Amino acid sequence: MGKSKTGMCHICGNVGKLTYEHIPPKAVGNTKKVKIYNVLDMARNGRFEMKDVEGFYGEIKQQGAGLDTLCDACNSNTGSNYAEHFSSVLLGIHQKFQDFDDMQMGAISFEYNNLNVLAFFKQIITIFCSICPAGTMLDCKDFLLDRKNMQFDSMKYTVTMVAVPDKASNGWLGCLENYIVSERGNGHQCLAGYLCYPLGFLLYTNDNSGIAKHGADITSMSAFCYGETPHFGVKIPCVDTKHIIPEFFRDQTTISSN
Ligand SMILES: [Zn+2]
Repeated sequence: MGKSKTGMCHICGNVGKLTYEHIPPKAVGNTKKVKIYNVLDMARNGRFEMKDVEGFYGEIKQQGAGLDTLCDACNSNTGSNYAEHFSSVLLGIHQKFQDFDDMQMGAISFEYNNLNVLAFFKQIITIFCSICPAGTMLDCKDFLLDRKNMQFDSMKYTVTMVAVPDKASNGWLGCLENYIVSERGNGHQCLAGYLCYPLGFLLYTNDNSGIAKHGADITSMSAFCYGETPHFGVKIPCVDTKHIIPEFFRDQTTISSN
């Protein structure tokens, strides 16, 4: 308790004291004790179903789900500029799912006229910076630390969004339905995913042509100005969260070969 970690900040690259980045932000209710499982370890042990977490090693996080990944300056910068725009969407979608009785629908429509689209997108990239190993996303530093910066490398990265309608067993933000997957393989391929009721996001690098991308491509969100609230609509497919790692991730050889 209270033991501070030191290391490289995943956004700015400075080495020093690291602070706890809540994933998702605290504002959506992520403040309670959770147990986090390393899904790649689980997959390597042949545990692919949600029920397989039973008896598997998990790390208790008293303050909610997250990771010690950001320096204090980057954490408060991104927290104050992006987190609320992201959280308000999550809370709104939560309500939207409440209104549906049938969770078997194949897709939902994500449609906004009042969303600070760039801020929402930058929070997603902030999350991916935390999920991916330190130093691997330093090319997003200026994009994240200057809220008006629009220099996102969309030639390199593709970001997609999926709906995660299944609340599973332990509440709408329980950790058991959180999947944080990050893997780099072959030195030139990056795949990261964050899937947590009610929305999930996938990050692909475009330098591997063999990867099929899943979800609705939302990379174009990076092209709006900070504070701009355009009409933005996209149909997002629902993913089945019975599995710890969605089947489309399991198909990737990077996961089994490492
Ligand atoms: Zn930093």
